[in-house]
Amino acid sequence: MYDIIIVGGGPAGLTAAVYGLRAGKTVLVIEKNSFGGQIAFSPKVENIPGTIQISGAEFADKLVEQAMNLGAEVELEKVVGVEKREGVFFVSTEEGSTFEGRSVILALGVKHRMLGLPGELELIGNGISFCAVCDGAFYTGQNVAMVGGGNSALQEALLLSEVCTKVTVVQNLADFTGEKKLAQALLAKENVEVFFNHLSVGYVTENGTLTGLQIKDSVTGNEKTIAVDGVFLAVGLMPENEPFGHLASLNDWGYFDSQEDCRTATEGLFVAGDCRSKRIRQVVTASADGAVAAMAACAYLD
Ligand SMILES: Cc1cc2nc3c(=O)[nH]c(=O)nc-3n(C[C@H](O)[C@H](O)[C@H](O)COP(=O)(O)OP(=O)(O)OC[C@H]3O[C@@H](n4cnc5c(N)ncnc54)[C@H](O)[C@@H]3O)c2cc1C
Repeated sequence: MYDIIIVGGGPAGLTAAVYGLRAGKTVLVIEKNSFGGQIAFSPKVENIPGTIQISGAEFADKLVEQAMNLGAEVELEKVVGVEKREGVFFVSTEEGSTFEGRSVILALGVKHRMLGLPGELELIGNGISFCAVCDGAFYTGQNVAMVGGGNSALQEALLLSEVCTKVTVVQNLADFTGEKKLAQALLAKENVEVFFNHLSVGYVTENGTLTGLQIKDSVTGNEKTIAVDGVFLAVGLMPENEPFGHLASLNDWGYFDSQEDCRTATEGLFVAGDCRSKRIRQVVTASADGAVAAMAACAYLD
């Protein structure tokens, strides 16, 4: 039986592991894909305190190495259920394993919605980005497209317009769905062009490098290609928290409805990182949650 079972091996889960282990607890981290989480997709990360620049993959390796050096046990399996019976958590996986723990931290992260177009997966982190705060600087002096029309898309397009030569915003509806103020600020920018009622229908590449985005006017049916060096997608985020909703309440968008203390309605169950309701989803905020959740788990265990 483990003191703490952590589901999800991204920055939140692995930071939680470090804090739990340093407090003398036994820790198991279960990850379904690859350790490091979303950040592993980022070619360059420049906003981690104390680190001028690092590739997401290298940072991910360091995270897992640090946790394992401290004695974390790890399993590469997909958790499909968590139940609590007589004070013990039973964590079951798709692969058929069941692990027992005295406390559990869910650090499941979030999935960015994609457009589902051919070649999209291969271009993530290599022409396609989900985060202007993280990756906008890499497109300084270049042309980019922003797909989406909600608050995230507007904020990110505004940010990109400060560093990029041109930002083309592609919105499938007749208007933006984000705040009016943001929309007005964006429309006032000289280097921003907006295509309303346009669908993104294909990525254009040359030798594996993204060179354009193909768009289609949903009213006339006309198609055109806009030349871009990068495409930013802001078409929504997708938490994958439903299987655990009976233990920790979910908000209207499917995020764990937990505040800064990372506690849930189930004693001994904590949530951390991008999977919980919060405004800023970044490595530092995920790691901060991991630390808070781990210390809360230790207090519960003690
Ligand atoms: C391309 C890209 C670039 C980015 N660049 C930056 C940047 O420069 N700076 C920055 O601060 N942030 C950046 N971000 C955001 C940052 O990566 C996230 O905020 C951070 O990774 C969140 O950490 P997390 O641990 O909460 O979630 P995640 O990183 O999403 O990790 C969650 C982990 O849980 C696993 N998991 C989910 N469900 C299960 C399950 N049922 N069983 C087992 N495992 C499960 C997932 O596979 C995943 O590995 C970027 C994101 C992307 C996609």
